Amino acid sequence: MDTTTLKVLVERAEKSKIGQVDFNNLSFGNVFTDHMLVCDYRNGVWETPKVMPYQPISLEPSAKIFHYGQSIFEGMKAYKDADGATWLFRPLENQKRLNISAHRMAIPELPEEYFMEGLKALLRTDEQWIPTSEGSSLYIRPFMLASGTGFHASPANEFKFIIACAPSGSYFSGKVKVLIEEKYSRSANGGVGYAKAGGNYAGQFYPTQLANEKGYQQVIWTDDNNHEYIEEAGAMNIFIRINDTLITGPTSDRILDGITRKSILEIAKDEGIPVEVRKITVSEVVEASKNGTLKEMFGAGTAAVVSPISSFGYRDADYDLPELENSYASRLKKRITDIQYNKAEDKFGWRYKV
Ligand SMILES: *Cc1c(COP(=O)(O)O)cnc(C)c1O
Repeated sequence: MDTTTLKVLVERAEKSKIGQVDFNNLSFGNVFTDHMLVCDYRNGVWETPKVMPYQPISLEPSAKIFHYGQSIFEGMKAYKDADGATWLFRPLENQKRLNISAHRMAIPELPEEYFMEGLKALLRTDEQWIPTSEGSSLYIRPFMLASGTGFHASPANEFKFIIACAPSGSYFSGKVKVLIEEKYSRSANGGVGYAKAGGNYAGQFYPTQLANEKGYQQVIWTDDNNHEYIEEAGAMNIFIRINDTLITGPTSDRILDGITRKSILEIAKDEGIPVEVRKITVSEVVEASKNGTLKEMFGAGTAAVVSPISSFGYRDADYDLPELENSYASRLKKRITDIQYNKAEDKFGWRYKV
């Protein structure tokens, strides 16, 4: 077996920008670290990955990313524990999913070693950028784009894999009001909804703007066929609690296989919470709200971990969720973040030391 690890080149920034950053007032994803990782795909191979100063990238106007949106991304975080050690949470799941997205978008897959060694080299270079205050972390954005040129509507032959990072404060925006969407769809059977393809998110912006104008912060996506089933909450997976049972929809072409989602499912089972993975109808949720058995709704994703929903709008009526003490949302969020920040035992083996 070949045990040599991949070499990653490192070109350090001459001067750090870190002194200009107020680490006590970090928002989400608006300031970027000193470095980025760049790896080019040319002539059928991924070249040597390189950590270099964070800077604009140069692309030709005919690069296919601009015309055909051939691009994908991932979202993950690095955490500092009380002893200053750096941890990732299930990073190989992101690496695998990046390649699932790549495959669907006709982008060449990136070998695991390039992803993991590139990521670790970048995190070691920008280590002081990982915030230490409660609930903050370094948000990591790996992405791939078609840098190859041509107006012909076909896959590019050159790509870039880049990782950029943003120190971020705790992502707490309060409880959200959501609108169950019955006209627009996020994804369809046979489509690209299960991939983290750039265009999926652009397609959500307009329906979300319409919902914002009506006073809702997010859209609850339903199936594209009859808008009968609840599928996702904005760019998060959705969980519903009816009585004491926690329910989420099954992953499919239309529902993204979230790492937070699957971690919550495992933790909930471990907590002895009854869990169901099955289709959720809009009508059962409305009915459960009317008869008082609907206890909680929340989104789940890397950025916010868990995002509780205060009320949902459906066909001109609003339905409020109750205020609960010791909600599943807060219990599950605490369990998962305690693992992420190395504050609790990691019985599932999810933590990864950098
Ligand atoms: C990324 C994403 C999620 C959440 O995935 P995590 O791995 O938990 O961050 C859920 N839904 C959509 C549409 C997403 O893009």
